[in-house]
Amino acid sequence: MRRKLVAGNWKMNGSKAFINDFQKEFSATVGEFSQVDVALFPPSLLICDAAKHFASSGVVIGAQNVSQFENGAYTGEISAAMLLDVACDAVLVGHSERRALFGEDDCVVLSKVRAAIDVGLAVILCVGETLLERESALVEEVISRQIKFVLNALTLDELSKVTIAYEPVWAIGTGETATPEQAQQVHAFIRGLVAEKDQALSSKMRILYGGSVKPDNAEEIFSKPDVDGGLIGGASLLVADFVSIVRSAIKAS
Ligand code: PEP
Repeated sequence: MRRKLVAGNWKMNGSKAFINDFQKEFSATVGEFSQVDVALFPPSLLICDAAKHFASSGVVIGAQNVSQFENGAYTGEISAAMLLDVACDAVLVGHSERRALFGEDDCVVLSKVRAAIDVGLAVILCVGETLLERESALVEEVISRQIKFVLNALTLDELSKVTIAYEPVWAIGTGETATPEQAQQVHAFIRGLVAEKDQALSSKMRILYGGSVKPDNAEEIFSKPDVDGGLIGGASLLVADFVSIVRSAIKAS
């Protein structure tokens, strides 16, 4: 049985004061979260602060991005080893905003996954189709390309550090959510791709859904057999909503 994971992607939002308030309110209910895993992805500059606030709480702190390079003359970049050094345990790679706004193609995504895994960070690999691709019946082709690029390049041991997040681009930050059936269909397809590589890995690998998950739709989505939790953007900035989504994951477990 896979444990559900609820991960909050704060994107370029938050501050030290925000973390302080969020953690206080969150920790008032944290005792209830022993059945699921929870992770938060603040902006890089706030990782240290978040790691201190959430130390020993069971909440994993991750980064939203990592350099594909080890060290050296890469102005403005942050390496995987640096993230590890500040008690960061995980990283998002391949988020559609990084792919679309920062030109990260499948090669860059793979290099970043490798860089993270090489130092022992867990990876949430984000994949998803645009609206045009869905309307052109290209969902499976796009998802397959994005996933196989990484699957085919890594060993089973390396892949054990990877969680996949299916995030249809048309559902991110738009208020439009994939129906639970649409999500399940793509999640089952993804699990099938992983099974082609290794059956045992596919039954263990967590596949999260992301795209306008809110308190009122989370439980139904998380109840689908191949949905192992969610990657939450906007709603992770509202602690009451985030807590409610975590509760939905507990109910759906
Ligand atoms: C995201 O950015 O990963 C995301 C899922 O955003 P939202 O929940 O706001 O759609």
